[in-house]
Amino acid sequence: MLIVQKYGGTSVGTLERINLVAKRVAKRKDEGNAIVVVVSAMSGVTNKLIDYAEFFSKNPSSRELDMLLSAGERVTSSLLAIALQELGYKAVAFSGRQAGLKTDSFHTKAKIELIDPTSINEALNDDKIVVIAGFQGVDKNGDVTTLGRGGSDLSAVAIAGAIKADLCEIYTDVDGVYTTDPRIEPRARKLDKITYDEMLELASLGAKVLQNRSVELAKKLNINLVTRSSFNENDGTLITGEKKMEGAIISGIALDRNQARVTIRNVDDKPGVAAKIFKILSTQEINVDMIIQNIGTDGVANIGFTVPENELNQTLKALSNLDDSFSVESDSNIVKVSIVGIGMKSHSGIAALAFETLAKNGINIQMISTSEIRISIIVEAKYGELAVRILHEAYELYK
Ligand code: ADP
Ligand code: ASP
Ligand code: MG
Repeated sequence: MLIVQKYGGTSVGTLERINLVAKRVAKRKDEGNAIVVVVSAMSGVTNKLIDYAEFFSKNPSSRELDMLLSAGERVTSSLLAIALQELGYKAVAFSGRQAGLKTDSFHTKAKIELIDPTSINEALNDDKIVVIAGFQGVDKNGDVTTLGRGGSDLSAVAIAGAIKADLCEIYTDVDGVYTTDPRIEPRARKLDKITYDEMLELASLGAKVLQNRSVELAKKLNINLVTRSSFNENDGTLITGEKKMEGAIISGIALDRNQARVTIRNVDDKPGVAAKIFKILSTQEINVDMIIQNIGTDGVANIGFTVPENELNQTLKALSNLDDSFSVESDSNIVKVSIVGIGMKSHSGIAALAFETLAKNGINIQMISTSEIRISIIVEAKYGELAVRILHEAYELYK
């Protein structure tokens, strides 16, 4: 089999762990597989490098930031290749550029445009284990780009697609995808299988076990994706296109702490005003979510919406450039709790149970949005983890 394995930050967090990863990779190679490994930076390194940049500037240039951050993954890839060579295997380390990963020029959140797998395939033909630095590529000017936080998952899936791998394994520090973050709710249950659509919702709503764009791409390319632990041999979770088996209506609950709420008051209640506001945000690639507008009185209305907390400053700046008479308030002391399940499509009363459960526990709901397969609720940050636990209980997800 041709297998792409991706090891996350904790899995390669120390030199000893990199050595354990090397042994794991070697074992799969001995079983007769061809192996490409994608690695993250050692845990904490990416954040540390960001801190270093912020020592010099509150707003470091994104091109230079990408040069800096890409170094984290290069360190791990070279060390793992050296460890494999020491174990007696042929191994080669590649940066994103050497692996043929071409992106657009949106530094710090670049999109992959294409992968030229020639070098990877040549190395595989030479019977080498190919170790690739995740999270990075190169744009048409030859500048290094990075793919957004958690982006090594995306590198792995994209490479698996480009070389037509039989399997893409994402190794992390938990046994797979759980009904909710097991660090918040110890009674969370590991799922054997989850559909791409449900996983995509969970990932987009804060379950960082898989980066959302990687799930989107896996669905598009129909890649066999498995998440599992690098610390044991337990079976992981298969992410698949198969329709849901009978049973659970809800598959999981996600908590997104990286959220902020913006309220714009006294917006002229006439056509085109909302368009103008959201146009300026979208041209800056700000991810607006959960928009609500109340019914206007006296010719003015209020518009509320959420944005990722780390895009709040940019949002406020963009809005201040509009020469309107409205006033803008923001609150980053909020979180988004989301309930996800394709079974919701055909069941009623799911949302009512969430609202009742939160009310019984005195948790105030600030905003609600729903789709066919999810309900998202904004609550004050301090209630986020409690909300996850009581909803997990209410929907009996531990069963
Ligand atoms: P890596 O460094 O391997 O990429 P991440 O920290 O990005 O790992 O993702 C793994 C973490 O995701 C887990 O440690 C867990 O706390 C968190 N997580 C959040 N939601 C879930 C979930 N539903 N199932 C499993 N893990 C989850
Ligand atoms: N090192 C990067 C991050 O911390 C990418 C990754 O780990 O996937 O976001
Ligand atoms: Mg990750």
